[in-house]
Amino acid sequence: MSAIEISAAAAPQQDAASPAWRRFAASRWSLWGLLIVLVAAVLLTLVWLAGRYEASQVQTRLERDTADALTDLRSALTRNAQSLQALQSGRPTPASWTDDAAALLREHREWMRIEWRNAGLETIASAESPFRAPVFARLGRGNAQADVALACATARRVSGPAYSNSYFLPQQGGMGLQVMEVCVPQMAGGHATAYVVATYSLGEILANLVGPQLTRSKQAAFTEADGTRLALHGSVRRGSRIFTSQQLLDLPGNTMLLRMDSWRGAPDLFPNVLTALVTAMSIALVLVLVLLARDARRRLQAERDLGDALAFRKAMEDSLVTGLRARDLKGRITYVNPAFCQMLGFSAEELLGHSMPAPYWPPELAGEYQKRQEVRLSGVQTPPREGYESVFMRKDGSRLPVLIIEAPLINKDGVQTGWMSAFLDISEQRRIEELSRASQERLQATARLATVGEMASLLSHELNQPLAAISSYATGSINLLKRQALRAGGTLARVGGGRSASAVDVAEFDASGDIEVAMRRIAEQAERAGKVIKSVHDFVRRRDQEREPVTPQALLDAIMPLVSLQARKVGVPVQIRIEPGLPAVLCDRTMVEQVLLNLARNAMQAMDQARVRHPSLLIEVRRTSPGPAAPGGKDWLAFSVADVGPGIPAEIQQQLFTPFFTTKSEGMGLGLSLCRTVVEQHGGHLGFEPNLPQGTIFRFTLPAEPSGPGAH
Ligand code: ADP
Repeated sequence: MSAIEISAAAAPQQDAASPAWRRFAASRWSLWGLLIVLVAAVLLTLVWLAGRYEASQVQTRLERDTADALTDLRSALTRNAQSLQALQSGRPTPASWTDDAAALLREHREWMRIEWRNAGLETIASAESPFRAPVFARLGRGNAQADVALACATARRVSGPAYSNSYFLPQQGGMGLQVMEVCVPQMAGGHATAYVVATYSLGEILANLVGPQLTRSKQAAFTEADGTRLALHGSVRRGSRIFTSQQLLDLPGNTMLLRMDSWRGAPDLFPNVLTALVTAMSIALVLVLVLLARDARRRLQAERDLGDALAFRKAMEDSLVTGLRARDLKGRITYVNPAFCQMLGFSAEELLGHSMPAPYWPPELAGEYQKRQEVRLSGVQTPPREGYESVFMRKDGSRLPVLIIEAPLINKDGVQTGWMSAFLDISEQRRIEELSRASQERLQATARLATVGEMASLLSHELNQPLAAISSYATGSINLLKRQALRAGGTLARVGGGRSASAVDVAEFDASGDIEVAMRRIAEQAERAGKVIKSVHDFVRRRDQEREPVTPQALLDAIMPLVSLQARKVGVPVQIRIEPGLPAVLCDRTMVEQVLLNLARNAMQAMDQARVRHPSLLIEVRRTSPGPAAPGGKDWLAFSVADVGPGIPAEIQQQLFTPFFTTKSEGMGLGLSLCRTVVEQHGGHLGFEPNLPQGTIFRFTLPAEPSGPGAH
């Protein structure tokens, strides 16, 4: 089965599994998707909650700071009011008051100006802050009179310090101050006798009366209820999220909001350690999830590959025509493929787990196989790579020849766990070999018969001579006998003519001696005729192919009568040269004789057809020099048949050994092809070359018998 068919066989199994497989894969993927979404949601919620917690922490701290700032402010304002009150103690003169007020102003940057006013709110004495230019220099103090009056009215009413609404006081250079008046009454008998009026700068209040630690990283501001900002201290970082806290500063005569803005913390991605930790853990979790997913995907891929490989292997095993069998080290069968079962007619269940003797061993060979297996399992001998032939028995009892190729079964740790064997049914191969051998033999027989046919005419010519001689001797002898009888009877009869007459003449005195000679001649000629016939008979007789040691001389002796027959007919002198001391060749005698005869015959026919003037045929045998022509280090003998014929043209050379190629009208074209087959069957080589200056030499080699010269 081809590779394409194998893959086609593997495909249906995959297709059959695919809908279920796809469903499974889809559900697996959706589970993974859900898990990822859930983890992401949990992580985002965690981070968000942590962020919110952090923000609420910041907000709470800000609220607390604002409350602290308010407390600071209140107590500072109260203290300041007391300081102002203290200015009036001890009946001061305007000059001493002014000194005291100036000293007070040096300590309190938040005051711009302090005034001593009488009950009618007229200024008795005043002092300006030494830290800046007099704030009322530009507009005049009169503008603020209404605010002062309002504050002092309130102060009178509550019998304590009271504040005016804040108002804007433009300054030089386009700047300005938001200020507020405080009025501290001096009470005597339920009536205010004098007032101390101080002008506060709201900005300076924030800068000096609120603890610096509270405003360092925040912005503090006074605003009105509607959000209008009155004064500001500190600055906010731009672009960051702002936390805000507001608290009411409720003073007698004035109400303001203290507002604090903070930018700390919340805008950062990781506002605090908790969030950072949660985020880091979330990232780690996501990473683990990703790694897990990747691992799962790899496993899934490996599973799928394994499934594919298994399906492919199974399809391959099922489609093999080679039988496969595995055995463990105890000889138990652990695996058989369908081809093996089919080959032997057993089912896999019948074979699996079966130990020696196997059910497919022919009973008559079981002993031998048992021994072979024991040797194999002991590991002493490794099986040959090219395999060995054996005979198995089918379930129906019929035998089949098999070629077995065995290899050790090694597991992944490199330990041998058994043997794997492949089996080829070679019965068909055997049948074809037998057929080809038979047809080869038939072809050779046909070729021999064809040669015989050709020789039949030569034979008749050759037999003529001894037969004519026999007939003459016989006639002469009869005559002698007749003469002897006549003489004995007193009658002399003369019989005339030819060779018989001379014989009769000689026999006149001793006829019995002549008759004996004639008879011997007859016997000789009959023997000669017999030899001629025998040589043909020997040649035609079919013999089994067997190799035997034959000396070159014996080979040539055997063919010489047949060669001479033709040589005499076409008038070719035949020369034979055999190197002395040559060993015997190991060959199928009949076949090699036929090769020699064919070559000699071809040579003589070629010279005859070309009407060569001085034809000659040389048959030579010698030892070849060792080298490529002598494979295997053995001794080789080279036979050559040389003629002085027309040679072989180049276009004919190429087809010379093709069966049925001939240039002769009565030729069969089998001679040379058979010659080459025979020589190659002996391991030799047949070739030809020009015989300079004229003709062709055919050469072939044959292996010498190793033991040296031998009998044939
Ligand atoms: P056949 O003798 O029946 O023709 P062969 O196979 O013996 O068949 O020879 C094939 C051809 O090779 C011959 O027909 C002849 O043309 C050529 N041939 C063989 N031997 C010689 C030779 N010694 N000289 C020239 N031609 C030859």
